Amino acid sequence: MITFSELGLDEKLVKATDALGFVNPSPIQEKAIPVLLSGTKDFIGLAQTGTGKTAAFGLPLLQLMDAKQKFPQALVVCPTRELCMQIVNDLENFKKFLPGMQVVAVYGGTSISMQVRDIRKGVQIVVATPGRLIDLIERKAVNLEEIKYVVLDEADEMLNMGFQEDIEFILKNTPNREATWLFSATMPPEIRRVSKKYMTTPFEVTVGKANTANKSIDHQYYVVAAQHRYEALKRLIDFNPGMYGIIFTRTKLDAQDIAEKLTREGYDIDALHGDLTQAQRDKVMNAFREKTLQLLIATDVAARGIDVKEITHVINYELPDDVEVYTHRSGRTGRAGSTGICMSIVHARETYKLRTIEKMVQAPFHKLEIPSGKDVCRKQFFYFMDKLLKTDISHGDYETYLPMLEEKFADVSKEEVLQRVAALEFDRFLKYYENSGDLNVREQRKDRDQRGSRDERGDRNRRGGNERGERREFNSPANTTRLFVNLGTKDGFYKASFLQFILDMSDLKKDVLGRIDMKEMNSWIEIESKAAKQMIKSIDGKNFRGRKIRMNDADSRR
Ligand code: AMP
Repeated sequence: MITFSELGLDEKLVKATDALGFVNPSPIQEKAIPVLLSGTKDFIGLAQTGTGKTAAFGLPLLQLMDAKQKFPQALVVCPTRELCMQIVNDLENFKKFLPGMQVVAVYGGTSISMQVRDIRKGVQIVVATPGRLIDLIERKAVNLEEIKYVVLDEADEMLNMGFQEDIEFILKNTPNREATWLFSATMPPEIRRVSKKYMTTPFEVTVGKANTANKSIDHQYYVVAAQHRYEALKRLIDFNPGMYGIIFTRTKLDAQDIAEKLTREGYDIDALHGDLTQAQRDKVMNAFREKTLQLLIATDVAARGIDVKEITHVINYELPDDVEVYTHRSGRTGRAGSTGICMSIVHARETYKLRTIEKMVQAPFHKLEIPSGKDVCRKQFFYFMDKLLKTDISHGDYETYLPMLEEKFADVSKEEVLQRVAALEFDRFLKYYENSGDLNVREQRKDRDQRGSRDERGDRNRRGGNERGERREFNSPANTTRLFVNLGTKDGFYKASFLQFILDMSDLKKDVLGRIDMKEMNSWIEIESKAAKQMIKSIDGKNFRGRKIRMNDADSRR
């Protein structure tokens, strides 16, 4: 196997990789580093997060900097504040043995004057989110004249978030740029277009296949009736007691609701969504990173750029519409050579969507059953007993208390002690799961008598019209309104993010929605008539990236 120094890296950088415990370069590093070290080649790296791409560009970038020159020579542009901080953190580690080398992170949501001061101290590399970078350029706080290298990290994410113009502005305003390095998990046509316009015969490297989820991830799915999603989620969490995971929802309302419900029921979970202030976000993220928080529930937008190590599970509370979103979600686990599990809770009608994702991801998806209450209790029991046996009692002054303990338990047998310990820990589970049913949706004909098929019937009743007839009403065209809106894929939306956007803006739940048709410039939304007014009122006339949103009833002439 090749080593870091064989790739042409300076000894001081190799020393830093050693100190980090990197034994060999990862595939993207092996392919990218020798090319990037030449300093003059444009480069496209198609690689997911977790493949080691930060070091793939960070190490050569540091080698190409002149530490004696105290002005910015490289820009790294990335979609979110979190990613920005992570990149700087990685670069700090890589430059440990390079005296005089300075790196700064600039992002929105904090004092700009502090960041201006940091840049003026004499930094060589500026790592920035696009919006704040533009602010700094406009204030003339960053001199772009001397920028030789521009790195675009997670380019597809930046485009999804609507940063295309900002990125083009940055590329246009770096006149002495010698090389552009673009990293992206996927290669949508807009990125191709940007690369064609601003890069010269880029050297292209793909690690794994574009659009392919990480191979070290086990993709699992569970088919349940829609009204059992929450119960199913709880069982999956309970069945995996050591889980350190992220749960994804489509809307911030779902993220909030589920986090509140689970917290009330004693789970260690917090939510990350767009309504939090930066300080609240940081607090949640720090707790999660330090593992004082076991579970994080997040929307796709809020979770962008999060890189947390050792995540064991990603759970899709609902399947996303786009394969790219699935890939991004599942890529949070199974990083840096470790393995991970991505679980999707799927409604029976969504299995076709699952097949499409499976095909694109090019990895097998395993259908598993939601465990029974009994299985959950058994699993928890063994987990606890294992923990009990592994508890370290070598530290601490237990011997002092031993005689007292022995006296107190003189008449209690070992079996009884164990039973009492188990009861303390398990009563919650045993009581909860005592009369729990089967949550799996089973094929109807085979299992007509089983609870699962009753569930399915229940679900169908709901869909066809429950006691209040809600769905039946909705399904009839007379009670549905079609809305027009002047937002589309050109605005950086894809279906899931658009859905989240309109629901978040209007504070409506997604069951009021029917079909959504998206085109480049416009979209059409089917919605329950009684909710249409609220949606129009909350969205029509608002601004989106400096443009006025127009939303109206598509079928009424106004
Ligand atoms: P990235 O894709 O840059 O987010 O990297 C994912 C993780 O892999 C980070 O935690 C890195 O510290 C780690 N990493 C990067 N390169 C290597 C390597 N060659 N060997 C082991 N771990 C690595």
